[in-house]
Amino acid sequence: MARIVMKFGGTSVAGIERLRIVAERVKREVDAGHQIAVVVSAMAGETNRLVDLCREAAPLHDLREYDAVVASGEQVTSGLLALCLQNIGVTARSFQGWQVPIHTDGLHGQARIERIDPDLMVQRMEEGHVCVCAGFQGIADTGRITTLGRGGSDLSAVALAAALKADRCDIFTDVTGVFTTDPRIEPKARKLDQITYEEMLEMASLGAKVLQTRSVAAAMTHGVRLQVLSSFEDQPGTMVVDEEEIVEKQVVSGIAPSRDEAKITLVKVADKPGVAAAVFGPLAEAAINVDMIVQNVSEDGKSTDMTFTLPRGDLDRAVAVLEKSRADIEYERLIADADVAKISVIGVGMRTHTGVASTMFAALAERGINVQVISTSEIKVSVLIAEEYTELAVRALHAAYGLEAAAGK
Ligand code: ASP
Ligand code: MG
Repeated sequence: MARIVMKFGGTSVAGIERLRIVAERVKREVDAGHQIAVVVSAMAGETNRLVDLCREAAPLHDLREYDAVVASGEQVTSGLLALCLQNIGVTARSFQGWQVPIHTDGLHGQARIERIDPDLMVQRMEEGHVCVCAGFQGIADTGRITTLGRGGSDLSAVALAAALKADRCDIFTDVTGVFTTDPRIEPKARKLDQITYEEMLEMASLGAKVLQTRSVAAAMTHGVRLQVLSSFEDQPGTMVVDEEEIVEKQVVSGIAPSRDEAKITLVKVADKPGVAAAVFGPLAEAAINVDMIVQNVSEDGKSTDMTFTLPRGDLDRAVAVLEKSRADIEYERLIADADVAKISVIGVGMRTHTGVASTMFAALAERGINVQVISTSEIKVSVLIAEEYTELAVRALHAAYGLEAAAGK
């Protein structure tokens, strides 16, 4: 017997027909003798609809009331799934965040889970009940309902799995797992059987939307065994596991493109102490997240160029901030470019293998793609290129690392 948390995303619960399929899937695990807690999202599109209603009611709304409104999507699906389960003879009840209870801090709209008291749920599961928990929500010490930020029901599931000491946390979604790259760009992309937490964290933060980034970080911290799989197809998904569990490590596991990028170059900034602080201090104050940074040594010891990247949506704001600080920074010219993309090659095997970066540069050079900025970490090499080459670069790199062919287990 195992204890399993099963989480179903918005497309998996979009309507009664789909909820019936979910109920059947849950029943199979119950019949196999497992203890089951289910976490559900709101029906696809529902949270967006509720957010829009709040905006319509009051553009600058009270976030405590926003939470009361947007948490309702999950309340509906938790009750409906409990009904569908009862309908096929499975004993089930719904839990709202406050009923578990899932305690959070008071940062409405973006709350953090502080602790979960699992006792009541454990008791129910031991009595053979399926506990259907509304994802995305909790309760603050003030007694008010909170939500965890968009995509937060993945986090609910992971946190619940940790609190329940579950053997596994299965995240059911509309894809069959985590792929070597976006299959819409490279049809030869392959589903991975396993991926490490760290690789998944990089993929998620680079915009692979299968798992919310915070949930991967939480799974890594608490050692929750995660599986990403499809609720529509009956096949094993991708297991997210500790590096030690992977016997045959891939040097490169995935290629992650990100179009949410922009580049700023400050031409001829003074080459003296305090300049980097003068550039990045005001940007940090404006809550603009700078990613890649390059600065060359100056030829004449007086001035140099500084280039960095940031989320595309922040470009206009960043330009305004830098123009305001122009007197402090002393640059000659500012060049802003929104037509760039970042392509990252990710793999824990990079720690022990050489030549990953040079393979990347050679593959891009062969296609005539110019590399504008490079950054590396222990398990990732990223390059900034012109956006129009995104697809070409992804396919070239996917082939260069042999991702379609490797280990077709
Ligand atoms: N329903 C929430 C959202 O759309 C939470 C989730 O689905 O993870 O953001
Ligand atoms: Mg989601």
